[in-house]
Amino acid sequence: MAVARIALPVAVSSTFDYWIPDGLALSPGAVVRVRLGTRAQLGVVIEMLATSEVARERLHPVAAVIPEIPGLSRDLLELADFVASYYQEPIGLVVAQILPPLGAGSSSLRTRDAMEVALRLTPKGRIELPAALRRAPRARALFTEWSAAQGALLSAWQQARLPVHLKHRVRRWEAAGWVEPAMPDRESSGPAGCVDRLHLNSAQQQSVDAIVEARGRFAPFLLEGVTGSGKTEVYLAAAAQCIASGGQVLVLVPEINLTPQFEQRIATAIPGRRTVTLHSRLSAGIRRRNWLLAAAGDADLVLGTRLAVFAPLPRLALIIVDEEHDPSYKQQDGVRYHGRDVAIWRAKQRAVPVVLGSATPALESLMHVERGRYRRLALPFRAVASARQPAIALVPNRGRVTTEGISPELFAAIGARLARGEQSLVFINRRGFAPSLFCVSCGWRAGCPRCSARLVVHRDTHLLRCHHCNHSERIPRACPECGNLDLLPQGHGTQRLEAALATRFPNARIARIDRDSTKRKGSFDAVREEVTSGNIDILVGTQMLAKGHDFARLTLVGVLGADNALYSADFRATERLAALLFQVAGRAGRAQLPGEVIVQTDFPAHPLYRALDAHDYRRFTEALFAERRAASMPPFAHLALLTAQAQRRDAVDSFLAAASELGRGIARGSSFAVEVFPPVAASLARRAGLERGQILAHALERNVIQRFLPRWREAVMTLPGRRVRWALEVDPLAFA
Ligand SMILES: [Zn+2]
Ligand SMILES: [Zn+2]
Repeated sequence: MAVARIALPVAVSSTFDYWIPDGLALSPGAVVRVRLGTRAQLGVVIEMLATSEVARERLHPVAAVIPEIPGLSRDLLELADFVASYYQEPIGLVVAQILPPLGAGSSSLRTRDAMEVALRLTPKGRIELPAALRRAPRARALFTEWSAAQGALLSAWQQARLPVHLKHRVRRWEAAGWVEPAMPDRESSGPAGCVDRLHLNSAQQQSVDAIVEARGRFAPFLLEGVTGSGKTEVYLAAAAQCIASGGQVLVLVPEINLTPQFEQRIATAIPGRRTVTLHSRLSAGIRRRNWLLAAAGDADLVLGTRLAVFAPLPRLALIIVDEEHDPSYKQQDGVRYHGRDVAIWRAKQRAVPVVLGSATPALESLMHVERGRYRRLALPFRAVASARQPAIALVPNRGRVTTEGISPELFAAIGARLARGEQSLVFINRRGFAPSLFCVSCGWRAGCPRCSARLVVHRDTHLLRCHHCNHSERIPRACPECGNLDLLPQGHGTQRLEAALATRFPNARIARIDRDSTKRKGSFDAVREEVTSGNIDILVGTQMLAKGHDFARLTLVGVLGADNALYSADFRATERLAALLFQVAGRAGRAQLPGEVIVQTDFPAHPLYRALDAHDYRRFTEALFAERRAASMPPFAHLALLTAQAQRRDAVDSFLAAASELGRGIARGSSFAVEVFPPVAASLARRAGLERGQILAHALERNVIQRFLPRWREAVMTLPGRRVRWALEVDPLAFA
């Protein structure tokens, strides 16, 4: 009896055996439906066996093969196997990450989905639409323009720019069969023309040449370029050449917000090539279709966030990881993989070059360069010849009269920009109005009832809100402890800054960008468009603003509250702050106008600010390397974090104490050079009503901790404590 071993998306590490009914053709990688307990489950065949160790009467049959999805290719199965073993995750959950969303109803397109792909007029539409649009002049104009355009395609980008009523109308045209989703036809234009159009300078050209020359073999590159040095042009030129010679290119970006912008640049630089996007905000139907286009080799370029690293790419020729240092490449729940690191493994597996791009590379990547594993490609200058590095001013907070935390220097500088018709960006990495509410009479502070955290004042919605669990409540009129009416919002967030600037500059057009203001899909794009077309004078925002946005008239960046990160308990906090500040500073003066950066800090002598002042990120990383080496921390060591949470503190504590003891026993017994630290409470000790704690395991060698972890995990699984939820995270980035 033939048996299929199947990975199912359930949180156990083992696979499950099923017998194969006669006449069902199966091979490894096939997507199948089976029964697990009382439920139907989709899974992937990992291997075929002649027989199972499980008794025949206890085995169920494979119910069906899912026809809409081709089986996972051999290389994807290998990739799943690597991710499962490296990150200590169940193979079934990893496979579920690789598969596109399946399931009922996902094939129907909803309104917003239609905007994600190019649309093409059908022959029926060409004939019937003119008559149907007789009394709709604007729709008719759209039709005329559309049908005259080459290929009669309306790109996703163009659709996104349509007024809402036309978007809805186009959606109805699709329902009527007048338009249909389409991939653009390939153009015959050669790669040379594309590269010409990009106008590469010599540093860019050298980088492109090096990447293209490495085609067909594993070659990791670190493309290190100051902000504004034109890394994107290098990506696009290299991608164009790889596509022209028949390859597929995978481009990873850290944020969903960056994909439309990137898509547009790809469309301009590499016209006629088929680009699909993959990220979590696409509907299930679109994601599945794009996945299928990639799997069939019909998409030339796949652009996406970290989950796109698992895209099926039969003709893969090049992988690009933009902003490789960005922490959002690390998935923080479910399968806790790092998109950049998986990308490197995949490039090696498929023998293709991989380009990691950043102005502020991760210490890990810099160390690989130092040790000769990665080749460094440098873009030392800003691409626009006249654009120079911005002037940096470090301005104290303490001991002076500030207005709502804004220094006189910053106010003056913003005023000067307003007078000249230039734009300013004021950056603070805290959303909301104020990070806490304080009673001046008795010292009470508004705390979250479910977390060990303060509630944040949100003036616009008149709410106190917890940024960890989303608990919210009305802002109280009086102190619940003493009845005092004098409640003071303490500290500053984006909303408070926005209000202060509006008071000081009543005629300025101010926009705020943070997670609250951009909840609605497309709102971020809309603000960006407003800034680009000069309809905004002052932008206030969080780190969302720091990444990859070019505004020609933006000449001033003000940074508030940066000192908060300097003395954080998280050893990576200064590295993240440095990346952020160099990025934010890079927003100022990118075109013809000179830029200025004002950082409000009480620690101007900190190595980070000195390096910023000298526009020398590497100077800061030298200091950081020394610090990490002395403390034996990554990249000089390898870590794993066991986190646990439960309703009761004593349950967490006893579970972690036992887990730590088991770990130490295994390390001692097998002479693994692994140190298992005693359990500690998480820095947010309680979140959403659950008590939290963690244990750090540390080793100098990656292969040592890799051999230790499966044994530790197996041992921990035997521990009692069903009310404790725990997870093991390999190479953790954050210690929350
Ligand atoms: Zn009080
Ligand atoms: Zn909370």
